Amino acid sequence: MKITLTKNKKVKPDFSKLGFGKYFTDHMLTMTYSDGKWNEPEIRPYEPVPMDPCTNVLHYGQGIFEGMKAYKTPEGKITMFRAYDNLRRLNKSADRLCMPNVDIELVMDGLKQLLVIDQDWIPTAPGTALYIRPFMIANDKALGVHAAHNYIFFIILSPVGSYYAHGLQPTKILVEEEMVRAPLGGTGECKCMGNYAASLFAGEMANKKGYDQVLWLDGKEHKYVEEVGAMNIFFVIDGVVITPALVGSILHGVTRRSVIEVLQKDGYKVEERRISTDEIVKAHKEGRLNEVFGSGTAAVISPVGVLNFRGEDLIINNNEMGPISRHAYDRITSIQNGTAADEFGWVVHVN
Ligand SMILES: *Cc1c(COP(=O)(O)O)cnc(C)c1O
Repeated sequence: MKITLTKNKKVKPDFSKLGFGKYFTDHMLTMTYSDGKWNEPEIRPYEPVPMDPCTNVLHYGQGIFEGMKAYKTPEGKITMFRAYDNLRRLNKSADRLCMPNVDIELVMDGLKQLLVIDQDWIPTAPGTALYIRPFMIANDKALGVHAAHNYIFFIILSPVGSYYAHGLQPTKILVEEEMVRAPLGGTGECKCMGNYAASLFAGEMANKKGYDQVLWLDGKEHKYVEEVGAMNIFFVIDGVVITPALVGSILHGVTRRSVIEVLQKDGYKVEERRISTDEIVKAHKEGRLNEVFGSGTAAVISPVGVLNFRGEDLIINNNEMGPISRHAYDRITSIQNGTAADEFGWVVHVN
C-alpha cells in the first residue's frame, strides 16, 4: 500500500467540544475501481477531491457509506467495535446499489494502518471516540442513468463527542404518519445516500414543532414502527424489550444487534416482532410503557423522553433515562472503551 504522510499536520480542535462529524484527521484512505477491479488502496493527506461536474454520483446518488468507531483503551491500545459487521454491511449495500464489493481483509488492513497513523486523534474522554466513515461513490464522467463502471472508496476519520448537543438527555420524537422512509422492496436496508436526503423534509418539519427526530412507520399501512432514520428503536412494555423485526425496510443496526445480545445474556426478555402505534399508545395509557430508546453507532443508546402521536405528547418514564436503557448503554460502552471484558468477541484489535 502506498502511504504519503502530510507535511502540514492540522492543529487539533478542543477535544472537550467536538460535537459530531465536524473535524477530520490528517489522513484518509482511498481506493479506486476501474476496468473491473479495485486498484491498490492508498493512505494520503486528507484533502478535497476534485470532481468533474458530470460525475454520476452527483446526479443520481449511486453512493453508500458506513459508520463505526475506534477507541483507545486505558492501556493505550487502539480498538474498533464490531467493524467486520460494518464492512460486511457495506458490501450488502454495494450489492443493492450495483456497486462492486470491497475485499474486507484488505480494507481492514488499510484501516488499521490509517488508525495507527492518526492515533493522536482518538479522544479518550467518556462518550467520545474516533468515528470512522467508509464510503463509496460512483465516479463515471457521463450523465447516462446506469450503474457506473468507475468507483472511489474512501475512509475518513472524525473525532467525535456525544452525538446529541444535550448529551444523554432524553430526546423528543414525533411519530410520522404521512411520509415514509422506505417501502418494502426499497433501499431501507442499505446505508445509501438517497435514503437520508429523502428523510430530511420530515425531520425539518419535526424540528419546527420542537422535536428532535421522527419515528418512521411502515410504508404500506403506516401503522407498524420501523426505526428513527439513523437509529433503531426499542420499547419496554411490562418489562419486556421489544424491537421491530427486520422485515426488509429497516437498517440492520450493529448497535441494535448488540443491545439484543447484551440484554438477552443478562436475562431480559427481548422480542423482535411487529409493533404497532396502537399497541404503544395503549400500553402508555395503561401505564405499561416503561421505556423507549434508540440505538445507533453515533449515540449508542439514546433515551426517548417524549413520543408525540397525533398531536399528543406521551411522556416516557417521567422524561428520564430508564434502567434498561442505562444498563444497555453501560454494558456496551464499557466493552467499547475497554473497561469491561470483551465477553462477546466484539472488539477488533488494531495494535
Ligand atoms: C446507521 C443506521 C442505523 C444504526 O446502525 P448502527 O449499525 O447501529 O450504527 C439505524 N438506522 C439507519 C437508517 C442507519 O443508517
